[in-house]
Formats: sequence, structure tokens, C-alpha cells
Amino acid sequence: MQQIIVIGGGVVGLTSAWWLAEAGYKVSLLERAPEVGSGASYGNGGQLSYRYVSPLADEGVPLKAVQWLFQENGPLRFRPEADLRQYRWLASFLAHCRADINRRTTAKLLELGELSRNAMKQLEVSIPLEEFNWRDAGKLVVYRSRDIFEKAAARAGAGQVWSPADCAAREPALAAAEHLLAGGIYNGGEAVADCHAFCLALAGRLRAHPNFQGFVHGEARGLRAENGRITGIETDNGLLQADSYVLAAGIQSRTLSDTVGIHLPLYPLKGYSLSAPIRLDDVAPEISVTDFERKVLYARIGDRLRVAAMVDLVGEDLRHDPKRVDSLTRQVRETMPRAADYSQVSVWAGLRPATPSSAPIIGASPYRNLWLNVGQGPLGFTFACGSASLLADLVQGKAPPFALDGLTLAN
Ligand SMILES: Cc1cc2nc3c(=O)[nH]c(=O)nc-3n(C[C@H](O)[C@H](O)[C@H](O)COP(=O)(O)OP(=O)(O)OC[C@H]3O[C@@H](n4cnc5c(N)ncnc54)[C@H](O)[C@@H]3O)c2cc1C
Repeated sequence: MQQIIVIGGGVVGLTSAWWLAEAGYKVSLLERAPEVGSGASYGNGGQLSYRYVSPLADEGVPLKAVQWLFQENGPLRFRPEADLRQYRWLASFLAHCRADINRRTTAKLLELGELSRNAMKQLEVSIPLEEFNWRDAGKLVVYRSRDIFEKAAARAGAGQVWSPADCAAREPALAAAEHLLAGGIYNGGEAVADCHAFCLALAGRLRAHPNFQGFVHGEARGLRAENGRITGIETDNGLLQADSYVLAAGIQSRTLSDTVGIHLPLYPLKGYSLSAPIRLDDVAPEISVTDFERKVLYARIGDRLRVAAMVDLVGEDLRHDPKRVDSLTRQVRETMPRAADYSQVSVWAGLRPATPSSAPIIGASPYRNLWLNVGQGPLGFTFACGSASLLADLVQGKAPPFALDGLTLAN
């Protein structure tokens, strides 16, 4: 049976390893950190947002982005880097800011979202949902501007359109912000969960899987290639070899792929999350809430409030900028003042491994035995199970359940 090494123990690498082991491959997983799920998969927003998948790139976004850059508490920051990859990514992002491209990509991501929802259900047999605080929370997107809300309401489809009073009545955590809202749109069927706990639970199940050969601790420094094939991974502990390789190392995938001449269009979109314990008399949100204009997500995950926000284009920089953290904390306290114990907030920053289109890159590479599962960007937890099941189909030479145009390296 073929041996496969997966590089990267985030949610994408772990699900890839699981689906490949289930398909009958002998799988090992290379991870540089002492614990899996400690990269972007650690403190993310926890949204399993299968239908709220619209790409960041859209008509009108460049203009909005310029306005955001001048707002003190705006959701976007930009710091120029001495790295051509930043400018290439931005140029490609701007080229994707068209309504027709956005519509096409959204349609593809909805297919991937549906596949991911079903793939997660398959996993339930092996990992009970309580192990990672999964909850069918539904999603309420609230709007502050009447104009933006009315446009969204006109396109709400199956979503329920709520007045500010409805929002506060159905989600009491929003009561203090009722006067600031123009309204909200609620959709059922979206879930929240703890991505880090999911990674740990999946790692535990992998260890017991008969086809799993084990976790290899080490840092991949580069790939070696010869005659159109990858011949090994250079690590700090020597050369690792297998029949095939899967690159799923989050944002680091771009540096690793560069070593064999594959220039992946990935850029780290830095974001922050805050987590705070919920006390007995706190009014934490039961519904997962997205504050549309501010781009802030709120979810109760277990007994903690998790808030995720911000898109900072500042390179691979994980430092906490005190101004960004203060600004987010102020917004959260204003919107949901009684949702958690804010005196005990812990702050986290992570790098979303994003493509300019927001669509991941899944499947073949220019090397016959190198497979890619990268670029899930702002929705890597949501898309991980679907991406992994597509990857396993492709590695086995099976036809995927839908056309993958827009989700591969070729397009
Ligand atoms: C603030 C924020 C909020 C988010 N909110 C959500 C959300 O609500 N819902 C959602 O679906 N998604 C969300 N995301 C996105 C999601 O977290 C990511 O898309 C996802 O975690 C990416 O997973 P990954 O496995 O590709 O990367 P990672 O989790 O970063 O994993 C990559 C792994 O590879 C390892 N690695 C890297 N380089 C090497 C090397 N050279 N050798 C060996 N190992 C290596 C790393 O140590 C790491 O463990 C959010 C992200 C952020 C930052």
C-alpha cells in the first residue's frame, strides 16, 4: 500500500490525513510544533459557516478598503513589505474584485460548504460532537447602516429578516446594541465549534487508526524533486521519504512549495481573536453573530465567548498590536457589554492562508506525487472536511462529486 506523508498538523492537514487513512493509504503526518492545531487552527472564530461563504474579493471592495484604511477602528490594516509576494497577491486580489467572478466563486464555495457539512457528519461516528463543543447555533448577521441592511434584506432568500427589536428579543446578548442596529438576517443550519479541540480529538482518533503510521515531529525545510517527482522532504531531522506527499502547512506552504518552483498565490491575512470566560449571570450569545460593517464575529464556544475580527496585511507577523487589540476590545464591550468576563480576556493572533479569490487550492501539483490542500483562508475550519474528502478522491483517481474549476492550481 502507498505511503503518504502529510506536511502540516493544522485542521487541514489532520483532516487530509484522516480521509487518506480511511481510503486505505499508509499515512504519516509531519508537524513542527509540539502540539497539533497550534497554528491558524488554534484560536479562530469557530464558525462552521457552510452557507455564508462569499469571497472577500467583490465589486466595490477596493473603494471600501480605502475607506477602512482611514478609519481608526477599521477592520483592515496594510503595512507594505519588502516582499514581492505581497504586491503580486494584492494585484491578483484586485483583479478578482468583480461581481461576476465573486458570483462564480461563491457558487463553488457553496458546493464545497455543502460537501464539508456532510463530510463533518461522517466524522461524527468517530468523534462525538460534544468533544469539540459543536453547537447548531444558527447565524445572525447584524447591520448598522440602514442602506446596507435594506440591500441585504432584498437578497435574503431563505434568511429571516429581523428588526433591531427582533434581534434583541431573539438574541438578548444584543440588547445593549439594539439602538445601534438597522436590523439583521438570520439563517439556521450554521454551526460553531472549537477548532483546536477538534484538531486534538482528530489527532487522538488518527493515532488509533490502523492505517496511520504516526506523527513525525520536525520542521520541513524544503522539498527535493527529480524528473517530475518529489523525492523527499528535507527536515531538521534529516530526509523523509514516501511514495506521495501532501502539502497542507497553512501559510508556510508557500515557502515550502517555492523550494521546488511552485509559487502558490497565498498571503497571510492576519486576524485577532479574544476569548473570555462566561460567568453564570453573563448574557452570552446563543446565536452566532456577525457584525457586518465591523467584520466582527461572536460565538459562544463551550463556556467561553470567542470574538474574531480584523484583516491585517502585514506579512507573517504574529505580534499583538496593542492598538488593534484595544480597538477590538472597545467594540466588543460596546456591542455585548454583559456577554463574558472581559477582565479575563485572552488575546490570540493567527494567519489565514488566503488565495486572492478566497477559494482553496486542492489536488494535483506540477509534480506527479505531490498533492496540495492549501489556501482555505478565512474559512479553513468550515472547509477542512470537504477539502480533505475531495483530496482523497483525487489521490485515488476518483471523479470528485462536482467540477473543481476555481479550486485547483490550474485555475
Ligand atoms: C482570526 C481568525 C479567525 C478565523 N475564524 C474562522 C472561522 O470562524 N471559521 C473558519 O472556518 N475559519 C476561520 N479562520 C480560518 C482558519 O483558522 C484557517 O483557514 C485554518 O485554520 C487553516 O488551517 P491549516 O491547517 O491550513 O493551517 P494551520 O492551522 O496554520 O496549520 C498549518 C500547520 O502546519 C505546520 N507547519 C507549518 N510549516 C511547517 C513546516 N515547515 N514543517 C512542519 N510543519 C509545518 C504548522 O505548525 C501548523 O500546525 C480564522 C482564522 C483567523 C486567523
